[in-house]
Amino acid sequence: MIEFTLTTGRPLVVFTDLDGTLIDHHSYSFEGSEAAIRNLVERKAPLVFCSSKTFAEQIHLQRQIGLKMPFIFENGSAIAIPDGFFPGKFYSATRKEQGYDLVVFAHAEATVLRAALKIIPEIHGYSDASDAELSAATGLRGAFLQRARERWFTETLLSRLDAAQVVRINTLLKPKGFVLSRGGRFYTVQSGSVNKGRAVEWMKGIFRQTIVQDPCFAAIGDSPNDAPMLEVVDLPFLVQKPDHTWADLDLPDLIKLEGVGPEGFSAAVRMLLGEGWVV
Ligand SMILES: [Mg+2]
Repeated sequence: MIEFTLTTGRPLVVFTDLDGTLIDHHSYSFEGSEAAIRNLVERKAPLVFCSSKTFAEQIHLQRQIGLKMPFIFENGSAIAIPDGFFPGKFYSATRKEQGYDLVVFAHAEATVLRAALKIIPEIHGYSDASDAELSAATGLRGAFLQRARERWFTETLLSRLDAAQVVRINTLLKPKGFVLSRGGRFYTVQSGSVNKGRAVEWMKGIFRQTIVQDPCFAAIGDSPNDAPMLEVVDLPFLVQKPDHTWADLDLPDLIKLEGVGPEGFSAAVRMLLGEGWVV
């Protein structure tokens, strides 16, 4: 059964990016946001991860934290919902995976995407990188590295791309239905029909059907691929990048927080749960 906090006067649902937001950009640690996460859990506010990370990575992170919540993976390519999370179930799952319903928005599997990428030989992605190369680029090792490789719908690129290359690659990918998306660290190639915002909109619909009172939706992010997520919520928060600046996002009502990554995430949660915060 799902319960919601009423501390803002409306039930609160929080969507959050992971890399560079809930977890540290360099160390991938959630230590800096752990207390804030516990406060959200205590106040019964659902915390929905919305990240380019894979199903395997997000399941692992949730287990480490002790959460079992719906989450949006591979940049909005699909949503995973724990069995029984939404009583009455207001949706049809595309398929089941390890005790989760999967709702898939991507128009093609990663194998199709990787075949399409072969027309652009200069592109170098996770799937064709050696473990040593991927480890050097990401700082991930062992099981963490393998979970990052388990991409079902997208391909993350190790290639550094300039603006002209981005335009050219997008032109080549468009007829196949794929597009480049810029994350905090890398570009990702994904279905042109998906982004974090569309997945968040879908989740909002499900949350609205689950509760009587209209919920307040907040989202926290750090980079351009979070813009579609931040655009579709009531309270959009932007945390600082490791250099203490903000990503160049021009969104109305965007709340820019003083604080890098988890520190900014924690500040957003304090604002959301704090006394006197009016929505
Ligand atoms: Mg990020």
